[in-house]
Amino acid sequence: LHLSLRRQRQMCIRDSILSARKAQKFWEKIPAIERAEHLKKIASKIRDNAEDIANIVVEEQGKIKSLALGEIGAAAGYFEYMAEWGRRIEGEIITSDVKNENIFLYRVPMGVVAGILPWNFPFFLIARKVAPALVTGNSVVIKPSEETSNNAFIFSKIINDLNIPKGLINFVYGRGETVGKHLSAHSAIDMISFTGSVETGSLIMQEAGKNITKVNLELGGKAPAIVLADADIDKALPFLVNAAIQNAGQTCSAATRVLIEKPIFQELTERLAKGIRSLRSGPALQDLECGPLISKVQKDRVEGFLQRARQDGVEFLAEGSIVEDAPQGGNYVAPCMVGSVPPKHTLAQDEVFGPLLVTMPFEGEEEGIELANNTVYGLVSGVWTKDGGRQLRVARKLKSGQVFINNYGAGGGVELPFGGVKLSGHGREKGFEALYGFSVTKTVAIHHGAS
Ligand code: NAD
Repeated sequence: LHLSLRRQRQMCIRDSILSARKAQKFWEKIPAIERAEHLKKIASKIRDNAEDIANIVVEEQGKIKSLALGEIGAAAGYFEYMAEWGRRIEGEIITSDVKNENIFLYRVPMGVVAGILPWNFPFFLIARKVAPALVTGNSVVIKPSEETSNNAFIFSKIINDLNIPKGLINFVYGRGETVGKHLSAHSAIDMISFTGSVETGSLIMQEAGKNITKVNLELGGKAPAIVLADADIDKALPFLVNAAIQNAGQTCSAATRVLIEKPIFQELTERLAKGIRSLRSGPALQDLECGPLISKVQKDRVEGFLQRARQDGVEFLAEGSIVEDAPQGGNYVAPCMVGSVPPKHTLAQDEVFGPLLVTMPFEGEEEGIELANNTVYGLVSGVWTKDGGRQLRVARKLKSGQVFINNYGAGGGVELPFGGVKLSGHGREKGFEALYGFSVTKTVAIHHGAS
């Protein structure tokens, strides 16, 4: 009681790291295939409790119920997927330049991994850190967002009676500037896997840099959807709308910039506007197209963008509605769409993280690519064209970690490596690449002395 709050917090983090360290030493010696069995148990428990967990996601984050159920399914799917890799964490034998020498490359765990999470996919992102970390032999200390602590709490409850080795999965709760910062700066952390904003990612890198701690950064985005004149518009339309406003636009991979080739600009803009007008924001349990935003702060931030755009004379082409029975004072923002904005405008450059879609015309493939690449971000891009040659050409020239052609997913399935370039970060999570992200090679050269 005599200790300052700050000191108590630090001791709590230290204890979590110590118990993670102890567990990791034991865990890395267990065959990966056995580790995978634990992942399967977690997956199955998540599936059994999907409805209850989804309700917590809905209540705490405001995501609509169907999307929350999708998120829980993806979390379970990710544990199952990573469990499958249990048998495939393999090293290599490489040819030596030295006579009588054998060189082995072992793939070894990092040690204790700190996972620092945002609030927008609060349950799935726990899986995204824990599953690959565990299967490759690490232990974890997870710091959830202060906005969505209950998601982490329910995860810890879910795994409680599964006989997961004690100390392997730890949670520390609290604010970023205190708990998150202390965790990032801790010399006993071997790796940080961070998902969140560019600003925080940069701060974490600076703290981690003091101990040369490895950092994986999965940051923000301003994804473009490039629609070329030969695209199948009927097919593209529902994807274009959903890619922008899913999770009320609070998705790092939200394709909020729809770049349209001039010959179809008029037609597609009108059809998109019609789509946006039909969208409703309302209580998440009503499972309409959009739920509320996460917080009043986020709502004010999004409305600030819209207000600035109005002041700049940006044309608002369509607005959806907020349902009448939405509680007064809730964090609802009606989905909306604006007309062409100059390439340097804040709506064309900055991550709004709200249900807003921007349209911009372009002339010819090259200009479309240039416009798409013209932000500091590079997380995901979408391309709509029937022409096979164009599909490959454009995909090759886009500067982003993922490119979806004639399709769009918020990062796609669990098997798709995901992560950005430029300010969107440099880690890769999901897919087989996650195994590399959460492990490192150790080279052993054996000289056997034979003549
Ligand atoms: P944020 O950066 O504000 O916070 C993320 C986490 O970092 C939280 O847990 C927070 O407490 C912690 N934090 C804050 N300051 C810290 C500090 N100084 N040191 C250590 N930790 C600190 O992000 P947010 O608002 O929670 O989430 C939205 C952002 O996350 C958006 O930019 C979005 O694009 C991004 N995001 C990216 C991905 C991806 O995979 N690329 C996925 C989801 C969200």
